[in-house]
Amino acid sequence: MHSQPGRSPIRVLREVFGFDSFRGEQLAIIEHVIAGGDAVVLMPTGGGKSLCYQVPALLRPGLGVVVSPLIALMKDQVDALRQAGVRAAALNSRLWPGEAAEIEREVRRAALELLYVSPERLLTPRCLELLSGVRVALFAIDEAHCISQWGHDFRPEYQQLTILKERFPEVPLLALTATADDPTRRDIVTQLQLAKAKIFAAGYDRPNLFYRVIPKRNPLEQLWSFLAEEHPEDAGIIYCTTRRAVDETASWLRARGRDALPYHAGLAATVRERHQERFVRDEGVVVVATIAFGMGIDKPNVRFVAHLDAPKNLEAYYQETGRAGRDGLPADAWMAYGLADAMNLLRLLESGEMTDRQRRIERQKLEALLGYCEAISCRRQVLLGYFGETEHVPCGNCDNCRVPVPSWDGTLAAQKALSAVYRTGQRFGAHHLVDILLGAETERIVRLGHNRLRTFGVGTELARRSWLSVFRQLAAQGFVVPDISGHGGLSLGPSAASVLRGARTVRFRLDASPRERQGARSDRKAGAAATAPDPAAGALWDALRAWRLDEARQQELPPYVIFHDATLSEIARRRPASLAEFAEIPGVGRSKLERYGRAVVAIVSQHPHPVPPPRSPQQRQE
Ligand code: ADP
Ligand code: ZN
Repeated sequence: MHSQPGRSPIRVLREVFGFDSFRGEQLAIIEHVIAGGDAVVLMPTGGGKSLCYQVPALLRPGLGVVVSPLIALMKDQVDALRQAGVRAAALNSRLWPGEAAEIEREVRRAALELLYVSPERLLTPRCLELLSGVRVALFAIDEAHCISQWGHDFRPEYQQLTILKERFPEVPLLALTATADDPTRRDIVTQLQLAKAKIFAAGYDRPNLFYRVIPKRNPLEQLWSFLAEEHPEDAGIIYCTTRRAVDETASWLRARGRDALPYHAGLAATVRERHQERFVRDEGVVVVATIAFGMGIDKPNVRFVAHLDAPKNLEAYYQETGRAGRDGLPADAWMAYGLADAMNLLRLLESGEMTDRQRRIERQKLEALLGYCEAISCRRQVLLGYFGETEHVPCGNCDNCRVPVPSWDGTLAAQKALSAVYRTGQRFGAHHLVDILLGAETERIVRLGHNRLRTFGVGTELARRSWLSVFRQLAAQGFVVPDISGHGGLSLGPSAASVLRGARTVRFRLDASPRERQGARSDRKAGAAATAPDPAAGALWDALRAWRLDEARQQELPPYVIFHDATLSEIARRRPASLAEFAEIPGVGRSKLERYGRAVVAIVSQHPHPVPPPRSPQQRQE
């Protein structure tokens, strides 16, 4: 397909990608770039950034050059484009000998429409030379936040991309990213020399993600009921902070029959690669990982991201949960959070080597995270508010919106808890303090004489679990501070005195029992049931998935490169009986129609509509 000036963006969208209409600002961005403008595109994951440069690349004369930091990501995109009939290739360090030379020849012959290239490769004199000799339609810098030291994935080589505007002043340049706070945004603009670029900012909201935080009690069992009830067959990612927790969680899940694989920096590179490959290529694989996993994985049908340990801050949380539901279908962001999480994070903050200024910034970030975990109101409002979006109304798609959280006046309880901290010399941990409040005559309490304290046994009105929740929330609100030694000892925070004096009231969220919280689930079932409500459609859906997996294996591609789940479930719903009907399904462009039309229509015809139940003999006689 050659770049044809006569074609319009909407025709390319329909013929090549098989979609009906553009989303959000896609068309505005595309038209701006086709007209030769530069653009900075800030759009959340799953928002549809790729089309913003792919469509103009197909419509402007010359080669579209896409800079992408990760080889796996490039490969996926190139495979997907080829499936759509676009002539695309990737230049990176993982090519066979001779392959790079062949791609270079194609570039010179103007036989390619899109070229993906790693920044290192692009910056070589050889590559710059090559591109100077041909017509370039546009440059797209994907994951543009990598340019900034303030961003979370700083890549020094990205900073050298500044030469693109110098060497190719006439070529439109797009910088695209899903996450860029203000400093990062400014870095992108100055370093890529995009002062004249138009900025398209679509905001941070991921409306298809259901956010939920549950009080951590028996995390593995809690995780298990979440998986068993809501995602029995889905692919997902589970994050833990330590390698040991990763290994243990993965084996625990495997022992229960889940296809779960560990992923962390302590595993051999080959093992990591194999596990990542399984996750991408197969259906329903769960990866248990430290944060080392996820960047550069484009798998669109990750149906859940679960945190067994609280993340470091809200940026990290947004980034990690962002890996769920890239295809726009419902997905879950689930977290188990407890006293130990709050304590660990606070301790890390106080013990870390940093300047006072850094510590102040990190403290604010941590407070925001704890505020999110303890939130009584809409989680999405808290999360988006942190990114400066304060205009959102309660979302209706998070646990707190679904089942409102009661709060209670905890002033008296806080006073009791704080005075237990004070009277024991500000060095004991929450569990011991709760023993004192409950009047438990443990060996340790008797030995230390803590049964003679005024606070001994004054807290029998609350259960142990509630007291632990009180301490967690006191820590989250800064009334108690963990010591930095790691023994879990608590001391009073600066604002504790005003509570003890009675000059200040404290409110706590009432942590619901697990049963009550059931109502706070996202209301949909996983897998087949969600997409195909009647049994016959379920059978068709299963058959389509099996066919897709088979096709993917034969072509050595991930299944989603053949068709996304959304397309497959539309097929199961609409049951196209002819090629013409199949062509109408979103996600079916001309190339896929030719490649897969017959096979899909044949599968559909083998799964006829469910027949209405036979009439009773009586009815038949009439
Ligand atoms: P991003 O790079 O912003 O995370 P992608 O470009 O990968 O997002 O697009 C996310 C998903 O949305 C993909 O499944 C893509 O096919 C789909 N998509 C993007 N634009 C449209 C559109 N205009 N109509 C239908 N689906 C779209
Ligand atoms: Zn909400």
